[in-house]
Amino acid sequence: MITRFAPSPTGPLHLGHAFSAITAHDAAKAADGRFLLRIEDTDTTRARPEWEAQIYDDLTWLGLSWEEPVLRQSDNVPAYEAALAGLPTFACTCNRADIRAALSAPQENYGPDGLIYPGTCRNAGHPTQGAAVRLDMSAAVTALPKELQWFKDDTAQSYSSMRLIAEVGDIVLARRDTGIAAYHLAVVVDDAAQGITDVVRGADLEDATVIHVALQHLLALPTPRYHHHRLIRDDAGKRLAKRDDARAISKYRADGATPEDIRALVGL
Ligand code: GLU
Ligand code: ZN
Repeated sequence: MITRFAPSPTGPLHLGHAFSAITAHDAAKAADGRFLLRIEDTDTTRARPEWEAQIYDDLTWLGLSWEEPVLRQSDNVPAYEAALAGLPTFACTCNRADIRAALSAPQENYGPDGLIYPGTCRNAGHPTQGAAVRLDMSAAVTALPKELQWFKDDTAQSYSSMRLIAEVGDIVLARRDTGIAAYHLAVVVDDAAQGITDVVRGADLEDATVIHVALQHLLALPTPRYHHHRLIRDDAGKRLAKRDDARAISKYRADGATPEDIRALVGL
């Protein structure tokens, strides 16, 4: 078993991250497997080297170890470009407001990747320079098996690929602002590059799994097994935000907590 923890260095690691990292780490160790780390820093507008350094420091303090070298997504851009070149795509110049305006009922048009794209630029032939690159989902579906299949824990899952058109739509594969691969493309390319057999991540990403399985088929990459753990909530029952400084591991450390205290706090 090969698992990974894939944080984005855009803020402090908080209790939710610690839970996710420990869960993936312990699953690999229990199976005599390997635990890998990946730094998801393709959002160059928000990723900072200080946060990356803090991630290593906090994980080490928690007692976790991982194999070197760590895969940093900003170092792997050519792999995303190669993957992108093999997919049916189009350039999109829409901003959020354009997309909302083109949808008759935006509140009813949410999929696992947010607003379902209304198709405005699909046949516009925009140059990719300064534009987002989207997957042409209708074209993609013709290259997919009728049923997408994968395992969630030990249970077989199945999803009719036709549903992707209405329920997911033309997702962004390369961002307009940075020109770099968006999350879904990078995660699929990297899970394969790192040989991940078991993706262990939060229940908040469960709905995105069908996107990842579809991309794996289109790119002829293997589909790992997926596990989704519960989310850590604050005292008010709210899910911890990406930047929840009050729950930052560094804050607990500064207050004298031990790694055992952190495990207990997240129910491990
Ligand atoms: N980088 C993502 C995050 O921090 C995790 C991606 C994943 O586990 O697939 O939310
Ligand atoms: Zn567009």
